Amino acid sequence: MRRESDIVPLDKRTPGVPTIEPLIFPVLDALYARREKRLNECATTEGEDEGAYFRFLSGLVGTQRNILANNPVSEQDAVAICKMMESGYDHPELESRLREIAGWQNAYDALVQAGAADLPEAACAALKNAGQDRESLSIQAAHLLRGDYGQVDAGVAVVLWAALSLCWAQAVASSQSETGRQTGAQATLCPCCGAPPVASLVLGGDREGLRYLQCSLCETRWHRVRGVCVECGASGRLEHWSLDDVKAPIQIETCGDCKTYIKVFRLDYDPHLEAAADDLGSLTLDAALEQEGFTRIALNPFSFPA
Ligand SMILES: [Zn+2]
Ligand SMILES: [Zn+2]
Repeated sequence: MRRESDIVPLDKRTPGVPTIEPLIFPVLDALYARREKRLNECATTEGEDEGAYFRFLSGLVGTQRNILANNPVSEQDAVAICKMMESGYDHPELESRLREIAGWQNAYDALVQAGAADLPEAACAALKNAGQDRESLSIQAAHLLRGDYGQVDAGVAVVLWAALSLCWAQAVASSQSETGRQTGAQATLCPCCGAPPVASLVLGGDREGLRYLQCSLCETRWHRVRGVCVECGASGRLEHWSLDDVKAPIQIETCGDCKTYIKVFRLDYDPHLEAAADDLGSLTLDAALEQEGFTRIALNPFSFPA
């Protein structure tokens, strides 16, 4: 695996068969740099219309990287975010707790300001409008964290999620611990922050063949054994689909028992793949599977379900 990855190699000083780490915490600056680059590459291959959205996203991730470098989340905010993850998003005070955390709201403003030039006027106005009323913005953030995506304007959701994700990822990376809401061995949702995965990754390099799910919110990867359904744990009716051959780097794993699917990025076949960017770049696969009656369990932070 080329050293372009944001996944830190295993510690080679430990001899013998390495134990499988339950969690791989994000190295955020490297992750953002890679995602930004990959989105740009997708923009070039997607052509003019679709390409414009990929270019906007590339800029959005670039701004996340700038905020991370120049204005990282405060310790006080990180502690408050971890506390929120532990108590769960069903908590009745979720909205007011969100309102008290300045970091994600400032990140939202910075992302809107930086992205404004690349957006049509109406989209830009909707983003600015949403940011003006902090109570309402906190309510919308709570909807996203609870998975009520349809309650939030799709354009606002992408930028709002990018702001939350930036802060959640830093909070998780600094605490480096599970919240214990779901143990890694069976977790369908992120064991750290409770959000759905973007996709499944099969790693290469010194973790050759291991499967991890990547969180759509805090960017942590958690281990799940291969050969079992991520959603229901059954193994009898799993199938792998791809557009071309069996060695395709982008595949879809379906479960005939619970009729769900998740995309699988084979980093052992192609280390350049980036889950969020390449998931968005391969939506034709999703359409084909949904026609077959399978339901998607993953969330793409750049394309919220209505
Ligand atoms: Zn997470
Ligand atoms: Zn299943």
